[in-house]
Amino acid sequence: MKLSALTLETIGNRVVMSWKADNRALQLTFSGTERSLPAAADAAFASCLMPAMLLGEELTVDESFNVSKALLSNLAQFQQYFVSWFDDLQWVNILIPEQQLHDNTVAPSDNAVFYSGGVDASYSFFELKNNINHLIFCLGLDIQLGEHERCEKALSAAQQFALHYDKNLIVMETNFRDAFPELSAKRCQIVLLISYSLALGLCNLYVPASHDARELEPFITHPLTDPLLSNALTNVIHHGMISRMKKTAAIANSDQALNYLRVCNASSQFNCGECEKCLRTMAALATLDKQSAALPVLAPRKLRAVQIWTPGIYHMWQDIYDSAVQNNKAGLAKEVAKLCKAYDRKQLLKQIKKQIAVIITDLKLRLLNSK
Ligand SMILES: [Zn+2]
Repeated sequence: MKLSALTLETIGNRVVMSWKADNRALQLTFSGTERSLPAAADAAFASCLMPAMLLGEELTVDESFNVSKALLSNLAQFQQYFVSWFDDLQWVNILIPEQQLHDNTVAPSDNAVFYSGGVDASYSFFELKNNINHLIFCLGLDIQLGEHERCEKALSAAQQFALHYDKNLIVMETNFRDAFPELSAKRCQIVLLISYSLALGLCNLYVPASHDARELEPFITHPLTDPLLSNALTNVIHHGMISRMKKTAAIANSDQALNYLRVCNASSQFNCGECEKCLRTMAALATLDKQSAALPVLAPRKLRAVQIWTPGIYHMWQDIYDSAVQNNKAGLAKEVAKLCKAYDRKQLLKQIKKQIAVIITDLKLRLLNSK
């Protein structure tokens, strides 16, 4: 994949970065910032690494790309982690002429955190509020640019939230999904968000953690790999590895966070109120006697439809159970306990099946040896 023709253009109050990846025309638009995008090349380059790894293509650049030496060195380690974690990613060669590698001399400034309206982002924002200049919000990945009504609704919520706390909202719009229709935007999402934000030349970029330390597993955002997207200007910091229940409790006292909560994109109006993630958030709030105007009221019987599939999600439900018990929500605790027990049974069954398979193999071997 050859990256070429990187240009920057100011159109009204927007700065537009354009470049090509072979014949694909990529475009990233920033609004809400006066910044001159001092590391645009790093952003365009880093954002194409994961697509190149998914497609198994060597990455090269033309003379319009001057890339940070620090970033290039970090990305070697970044590739090593991801290739060892995921079968769908391949190690790719990166070829950049020595004269196009540089150490930045511009001084970085300002700190930012991603804001989507979710529990993790809201928690990180409140924790970092006094140290943050900008919230960064992105359209074109989880919400497609063509979904005008949803874009407007999500953007308006982010704008109101930022305005309430007197912070600047930087909006990025990407045409990634049009440029790489064969790739999943979700598969690349956080890596793209971090990569794009490098363009801004920030001092610190905070990435709200999705998991707490107990739940760590190979994932697109991880305390080992997020910092490896740092260049010579920007420190990328994986922030807030505490349980989701604790995060929910921390944001539950803010009407702003609750009003603009966006935990799922399943329905046209966001927050379907039916999926596991919506129900998990509603249950966590219910243990605290709190409710979000953006979510329906929880009927505990609805939890009977929930299925837990991963240890990480199991831990989150266990924390909700503990919170329900602590706060004397017996009915809710009972329903959550049923969910957790169903998962325990599933795990036990898996173990039994595994043991039976081992015993059968052993018996077959003994039988063969005795012949
Ligand atoms: Zn939902």
